[in-house]
Amino acid sequence: MGEGLAIILSAPSGTGKTTICKVLRKKLPDLKFAVSHTTRPIRKGEKDGVDYTFISNEEFEDKIKSNDFLEWAKVHNCYYGTSLQSAETPLKKGYDTLLELDIQGVKTLRDMKYQGVYILIFPPSVKELEARLKKRGTDSKENIHRRIETGKKEIKKYKMYDYVITNNEVEDTVTTFLSILQAEKSRVSLYKPTSPDIEELLKDGVD
Ligand code: 5GP
Repeated sequence: MGEGLAIILSAPSGTGKTTICKVLRKKLPDLKFAVSHTTRPIRKGEKDGVDYTFISNEEFEDKIKSNDFLEWAKVHNCYYGTSLQSAETPLKKGYDTLLELDIQGVKTLRDMKYQGVYILIFPPSVKELEARLKKRGTDSKENIHRRIETGKKEIKKYKMYDYVITNNEVEDTVTTFLSILQAEKSRVSLYKPTSPDIEELLKDGVD
């Protein structure tokens, strides 16, 4: 089995990422999620080790020193990072793996020329983003303001990604997402011969 496909996903806070991921888990049971580490407080309904691995500032800084992270960033005053282990273990086993990153993490990976498909989810509008964050009711007024400003910055950097999907309806978003995966997995660079005769044929090179 070859390496799996790394799917780098960004979605400004309030875009509907959690719901999208829930549907993806159902539709693609083999898709692995690289669980990030964070120092932000756990929200109601979240599970440690599932949504994030929640650790202290001290623990996070120790992990930075030990080079445990593929990438890390400070978002909204808290640390977030993808450990090497959470991403590389499933990928090496051949599983497609979803890495959820903010724009700083994406920049780090792009600078490293990290191979994968980079997808950004857009809200239908900034107004809608604001309305969803308020409706969620998990953040203070100040936090909501900060998340909207960060979201706007992320939207402006859309050219760092390979694909943008506007999340109007979750089902449509997931359908588009699955089509992207299918196309990416059909890339010539990922092609693996399915029979000895085709393998033999391709060994001779292409005219
Ligand atoms: P939230 O607190 O709403 O779950 O996430 C806040 C932001 O942190 C989101 O933009 C999310 O994409 C980002 N984020 C989550 N995990 C990671 C990670 O491992 N690395 C980086 N760089 N950003 C992350």
